[in-house]
Amino acid sequence: MSSTNAGGSPAYRILAIETSCDETAAAVVADGRRILSNRVASQIELHRRFGGVYPEVASRQHVLAIQTVVEDALADASVAHVRELDAIAVTNGPGLAGSLLVGVNLAKGLAFASGLPLIPVNHLEGHIYSNWLYTDSSPIAVSRASEDGNGSVSDSARRQRSGSASEQFPALILIVSGGHTELVLMEGHCRYRLLGATLDDAAGEAFDKVARLLELGYPGGPAIQAAAESGDAGRFHLPRPLMRPGQRTERQPDAQASPLPTVLPVRGEHRFNFSFSGLKTAVLNLMRQLEREGTEARKPQTAADIAAAFQMAVVDVLVGKTADAAAEFGVKQVCICGGVSANGLLRRAAQQHFAKIGLPLHCPPLFLCTDNAAMIGAAAYYRRSYALARQPSPMGGPHSTPHDQPSEPSARDYLALDVYASLPLVDSIQR
Ligand code: ADP
Ligand code: MG
Repeated sequence: MSSTNAGGSPAYRILAIETSCDETAAAVVADGRRILSNRVASQIELHRRFGGVYPEVASRQHVLAIQTVVEDALADASVAHVRELDAIAVTNGPGLAGSLLVGVNLAKGLAFASGLPLIPVNHLEGHIYSNWLYTDSSPIAVSRASEDGNGSVSDSARRQRSGSASEQFPALILIVSGGHTELVLMEGHCRYRLLGATLDDAAGEAFDKVARLLELGYPGGPAIQAAAESGDAGRFHLPRPLMRPGQRTERQPDAQASPLPTVLPVRGEHRFNFSFSGLKTAVLNLMRQLEREGTEARKPQTAADIAAAFQMAVVDVLVGKTADAAAEFGVKQVCICGGVSANGLLRRAAQQHFAKIGLPLHCPPLFLCTDNAAMIGAAAYYRRSYALARQPSPMGGPHSTPHDQPSEPSARDYLALDVYASLPLVDSIQR
């Protein structure tokens, strides 16, 4: 595996480790963008019987899996020893404390033993940077619009993706995962303003809970999507929380989208906030009403119709608010990331809207939507560059590239690195 970049200079290679929830993951990433290896050991089968992540089981499984996952990631990238690399990165929050500790302690040990710098990474910042990654087999993370919604951007968007900071920022980021739903204005690399967040359940959490109500399986997001494919989204009407009825003429989310009312984000303090807990309750109430009327709500066709209506409601809210924020803040591009960004309807609806108004849209390829370590390696690279650029140089000016001589933390500093379980994105990464 080549360790030079396109310019012929040595690539800055990071070993990244991610264990914030139920995926044990390790990757080697060059210059923050090129994936040299990416290993993910999923615990889905282990947690399926519980219908959700069982934290103690997750921690113990990380302990069992982590050594093999890291060794495999190094071997895939043709790295014989960690010392050949330039840095180690690890997710230190937010997430399950017991899970985070496994990755953080291994990373500390590797950094201490090898003398390499250790870069702590916020998991959500990792999701954001999944949009900057590419592999040798796919020259850019997402470069083509495809019919199944797996791709998302046009050629002009692809060119812009590699462009200068002024071409890329401000960018609007929609983070939609199992634990978070946030709209973030990215003003530059590693500079964020939180525009809105969920007041209760995250979008992925709502998918998981509704799938459980309908007994569709675990994890809920893919199960709802699969069921919705044979469902009629127009049979039932579900609310669009924190949106108001209105005329949204420019958007036709999908051929499936039918007689549902158009909606606009509410004005005032909740304009860019989300709420999905009431939508889940609306599904429960609908199921009870159907049962009272003598219809078995979990009957395959009825469950499929409810799943389709639910998915459509979530996508309407996510795309509606993202579209509104993009217009308000005059962004140069929109990026969607996190586990729910794997949702086909969300990808197609966002693609249709932003293609119509000519704004570049990026969604990671499916394998980078859910938790992985490559995104942690990408975020680490940009965060390190950002920290170096802000550091006063001996000449009094800022450093400008990550290859300049940094004042790296000492081995003792690594021992002080701790995990945090659930701080909000902006508080924790606008350091
Ligand atoms: P975390 O919150 O731990 O960071 P991930 O980023 O891995 O989690 O996202 C997991 C979430 O993504 C789960 O809630 C899952 O149901 C959801 N998800 C995964 N695929 C889809 C999909 N195709 N449609 C909707 N939701 C999905
Ligand atoms: Mg995640």
